[in-house]
Amino acid sequence: MLELRPNCECCDRDLPPTTREALICTFECTFCADCAEAVLGGICPNCGGELVRRPVRPPGPLARNPASTVRVFNPACRERAGA
Ligand SMILES: [Zn+2]
Ligand SMILES: [Zn+2]
Repeated sequence: MLELRPNCECCDRDLPPTTREALICTFECTFCADCAEAVLGGICPNCGGELVRRPVRPPGPLARNPASTVRVFNPACRERAGA
């Protein structure tokens, strides 16, 4: 099951489980659409894997399997990406 992390790892923007603006890599490194496109070029800066849109978890399943509340923020992300 996806963790559904609550924020963008790159800019710390909130990414609620219902947003369509969240992208993840295969390890669930999580980024907003802006960072994924403009900063990272669609590639995860941690693992080099591709970033794809995170599927929205519908309300019922979300209530039974709540999203993660553990924020992952990596300020070096933008530097590493050369932005
Ligand atoms: Zn971001
Ligand atoms: Zn990754």
